[in-house]
Amino acid sequence: MSAAPDVAEACAAPLTDGQILSVGGQRLNVRVSARRTRLALTVERDGTVTLHAPHDCTTERAKDFVHRHRRWMEGKLALRERLRPVHPTRRLVDGEIFRYLGRAYRLQVRDVPGESVRLVCGRLQLDAGAATDPRRGRREITGWYRRVGREWALRRLQPWAARLDVAAPRVEVRDLGLRWGSYTPGGEEPGLMALNWAVFQLPAHLVDYVIAHELAHITVSGHGREYWRVLRRALPECEERRNDLDELGRRVWLGEVEAQPCG
Ligand SMILES: [Zn+2]
Repeated sequence: MSAAPDVAEACAAPLTDGQILSVGGQRLNVRVSARRTRLALTVERDGTVTLHAPHDCTTERAKDFVHRHRRWMEGKLALRERLRPVHPTRRLVDGEIFRYLGRAYRLQVRDVPGESVRLVCGRLQLDAGAATDPRRGRREITGWYRRVGREWALRRLQPWAARLDVAAPRVEVRDLGLRWGSYTPGGEEPGLMALNWAVFQLPAHLVDYVIAHELAHITVSGHGREYWRVLRRALPECEERRNDLDELGRRVWLGEVEAQPCG
């Protein structure tokens, strides 16, 4: 007969920071903060759920809160699942598809004199030597995206800078992992806009969105109401484009090359 009082005691006990709480089969990471007065739930990009709680919150109150917000939480989790990254791997063989500004180009492995990668007659040609070495192949192809992408971005920069009423920053195209772009203020000098090489696989209007997005950060840092007001003035359909970027961006090739079987 000791089970009931124990359960009641456990439910009345306050939550502890870092504990895992299980509610109806869903695991929640508990974050307790003395500054917090109300309970809140957040669903992270990777699908983990965090319960933010005030320091004196009991397990019972927390579970009740989660139950009442279950529908919201499940909706968020379903959305996260729908937007889960599914970045593909590419093989460096004839016929493999590579995208540039939304168009599909088939890879053609050839002895390419001079440049290792070039776009010729609707084919992306890769030097045969680079194709047999996945690391070199990846380096050559991403290097090609960096070069042609930067040239393309530089041509789009002035019109977008004019629409956003800012001075054009310096532009660099490189590997930014899972981010599409970033902007670093320059102080006395022009700031630096960095773009992910992988973004140039997307249709041009989405690359434009990333450029406009970063340029708007010259005026406003962060993503508050004022930021979106500034961006929307230059690009009224910015929210739609952001959604498209979330949707298409999760399927973009990030440079993973499949190793060739030996022999
Ligand atoms: Zn931003």
